[in-house]
Amino acid sequence: MNSVLVVEDEIHLAEGLRFNLEAEGYRVEVAATGEMALELLHQNRDKFDVVVLDVMLPGQDGFFVAAELRQAENFIPILMLTARNRPEDVLRGFESGADDYLAKPFELSILIARLRGLMRRSEWAKRERAPQTTSDIITFAGKTIDFSALELKAGDRTVRLTLMEADLLRYLLQHEGQSVSRKAMLEAVWGLHEDTDTRAIDNFIVRLRKYLEDNPAQPQHLLTVRGIGYRFVTTPSA
Ligand code: CA
Repeated sequence: MNSVLVVEDEIHLAEGLRFNLEAEGYRVEVAATGEMALELLHQNRDKFDVVVLDVMLPGQDGFFVAAELRQAENFIPILMLTARNRPEDVLRGFESGADDYLAKPFELSILIARLRGLMRRSEWAKRERAPQTTSDIITFAGKTIDFSALELKAGDRTVRLTLMEADLLRYLLQHEGQSVSRKAMLEAVWGLHEDTDTRAIDNFIVRLRKYLEDNPAQPQHLLTVRGIGYRFVTTPSA
């Protein structure tokens, strides 16, 4: 049975989530503060499969919790809950290590779909890390991406990728040289078919450029295609 940690101080919302997720067959624990969540997650790394993390918490907020987990090399999938009137929190959420976000108020069915998507990807990543599988490494232009280890090496820098970042990179590499729309990326990587804010994609691109590009302001690999989306090229044209 999959296990969800809900980090939310609004008891009404937390208990509503517990009730509904349990009805869907999940095991659910609720933490009302960021400190409590970190304690639970540090205690037992394998107890939970996914975290639903509210940004607004008393004491340490959701950004802090996500950043702490990533700092401790805990890469459990995180779905962050943000306030609808604060779109800037989305970027901060991704920067702190969230894998996906949902603006409040949200529809339960969408939350559940997102959780399923996150857990499915993390299962793949776990399988790919198993010793009997061959490694999944791509090298280009002095960069190495190890999809099994979720690691990107560029020069002497090594960056640990979140599941989402790795999925998006893989998708872009699979479509090397082609222009891909934000909508196509949202559908393929996030599994989202409904109308969604496509800005999340742009935030991811900003991060990937920071990892990949020698000069993120003048990208050589992850190019913007005006009016469409992005194009990934492994070998920059002169
Ligand atoms: Ca809250």
